[in-house]
Amino acid sequence: MKSEKLIPVSEIFYSIQGEGKYAGHPSVFVRVGGCNLKCPGFGEKGCDSYYAVDKSYKSEWKLMSVEEIKSEVSKYIRKDTHLVITGGEPTLFYKQLYPLVVWFEGQITVETNTTVDIDFEKYPAYKDVAFAMSVKLSNSAEEYGKRVKKHVIKSYVKNAPKSFFKFVIDKDLNNEIKDITAGINAPVYCMPLGADKEELEKNAPFVFGFCLKHGYCYSDRIHIRLFGKKKGV
Ligand code: SF4
Repeated sequence: MKSEKLIPVSEIFYSIQGEGKYAGHPSVFVRVGGCNLKCPGFGEKGCDSYYAVDKSYKSEWKLMSVEEIKSEVSKYIRKDTHLVITGGEPTLFYKQLYPLVVWFEGQITVETNTTVDIDFEKYPAYKDVAFAMSVKLSNSAEEYGKRVKKHVIKSYVKNAPKSFFKFVIDKDLNNEIKDITAGINAPVYCMPLGADKEELEKNAPFVFGFCLKHGYCYSDRIHIRLFGKKKGV
């Protein structure tokens, strides 16, 4: 198999989805390595999945064929298990991952920064995927033009109607959320910024009130509350 067909995988594990529309659901997680953004605003290490983004962790990523990923995922499938493809930025590998999306029978979520255009006509199984569109806000300290691609957001929602927005906040960024979601019919989930339990708990009451005020859905972050920064949970 040619190396360009291989996918850098940071980890594959079975856990409970901790955030967003399917929070609480038992899921197999496939975390792909590499991201097209850096998000320096999310602390010293860049982001909460820095080990799947920071190139210094590259030696820990395993280059896997999609068949190897399927075989690993199949070990964890129970009744009504979901599949969560996350990162890093998994859509960078959406073509290579397509056989996994076609093969998996349950609900699939792809957690994405929503900056990579997907060819839904050529890869139609992505239409049944729920894209958790974690479009980055100014607190990521990324340039607007790099982090907000409105034509990509519109395409995901039009082609994959189970998609939803997921924003991480610690202050009133409603002007930005309104700008990103204007004219787009998809649920909005807001979650508290927090790399650990203490920071999460500090920000949660504000986000709770913010969601009530603007009619957004509140999402907690179960895995940070229970396990902090621990990997593979
Ligand atoms: S887009 Fe997500 S994975 Fe990529 S650097 Fe930003 S927070 Fe990390």
